[in-house]
Amino acid sequence: MSLCEVCWAAGAEYECRLCRRRVCPKHFRVDAGLCSVCHENLCEVCGQRLAVDSCVVCGRLVCRQCSAELQPGIRACRECYSRIREHARRGAGLRYLERVIGSPRGRDKTYNG
Ligand SMILES: [Zn+2]
Ligand SMILES: [Zn+2]
Ligand SMILES: [Zn+2]
Ligand SMILES: [Zn+2]
Repeated sequence: MSLCEVCWAAGAEYECRLCRRRVCPKHFRVDAGLCSVCHENLCEVCGQRLAVDSCVVCGRLVCRQCSAELQPGIRACRECYSRIREHARRGAGLRYLERVIGSPRGRDKTYNG
């Protein structure tokens, strides 16, 4: 039996559907069909693909498909992105963005738009 490719201690019984790693039951989420590593890095919007970054506004992990680049290296999920676009249309986009990115509490869940 092959060893779990996460802990290298227990026998692998499952295969992750994303990374194809073979893992032990402890490192596999049966409900999601994913190894624990992928499960922790999963896009919180679609829950289907691995996240590439987190949304600068709401802090959720997002994959490439569920996010858009606001500025190089700065991503927002589609929801927050469209909200920013809304603000931008009213001419408040940049100020809104600065407030979000500039404040250390920008990632806080209590943010209320
Ligand atoms: Zn393991
Ligand atoms: Zn995996
Ligand atoms: Zn996604
Ligand atoms: Zn967001």
